[in-house]
Amino acid sequence: MRRDNGARRGGMLVVYPGSFDPVTNGHLDIIRRAAAQFPRLSVAVVANPGKSPMFTLEERVALLREACRGLRNVEIDSFEGLLVDYIRGRGNALIVKGLRIVSDFEHEFSMALLNRKLESGVDTIFMPASLEYAYVSSSSVKEVFSLGGDISDFVPAAVLRKMKERRTKKYERL
Ligand code: ADP
Repeated sequence: MRRDNGARRGGMLVVYPGSFDPVTNGHLDIIRRAAAQFPRLSVAVVANPGKSPMFTLEERVALLREACRGLRNVEIDSFEGLLVDYIRGRGNALIVKGLRIVSDFEHEFSMALLNRKLESGVDTIFMPASLEYAYVSSSSVKEVFSLGGDISDFVPAAVLRKMKERRTKKYERL
C-alpha cells in the first residue's frame, strides 16, 4: 500500500533543475507554485548546460537568489554532472519540471523516464506553465532583448538590470 501523501510530503525535498540562463518570470511562477505545495524546494542550477550560457554559474545563481528573496522555503543550489547523482546526495528528492508547450512534453517526458531508469525511485512531477508565461523561455527573452524588444514583462527586475548593464558595457568597449 502507498504511504500517506501528507506524511511523505512532510520531510520531502523537491528539486527544480534547469539552466536558468537567465531566470524568467515563467521559472518564478513554477518556483512559487511548487514552494506553495511542498515544504522545501531546492532550485538547482546546472553548472554546464549543453549550450554555452550567456551568464556564468555565479551570475545565474545570484539572479535567482535575488528573485527568490522572500520565499522562505526556497534555496538556490547548483550542481555539475548527472541530476540523479546530485539528487542521491541530497537523500533522494522529487524532481519538479514546468511544462510549456507540446515540445517541452516530449523532451521532459523522456528525461523523466531516463532519470528513473538511471536511479529507480527518482520520480518527476510536472506543473503546467501558467498561460501568461507559456511562451516565455530564457532563449526567447535573450533574443528579443538583443533585437531591442521590451522584455520587462518576462523577467524579474534584477535580470533586466543585469542585461542592460551588459549591453552598456558592450557598447563602451566598442
Ligand atoms: P529554458 O527552457 O527557458 O532555457 P530551463 O532549461 O532553465 O529553461 O528550464 C528549466 C525548467 O523550467 C524546465 O522544466 C522548463 O520546461 C521549465 N520552464 C522554463 N520556462 C518556463 C515557463 N515559462 N513556464 C513554465 N515552465 C518553464
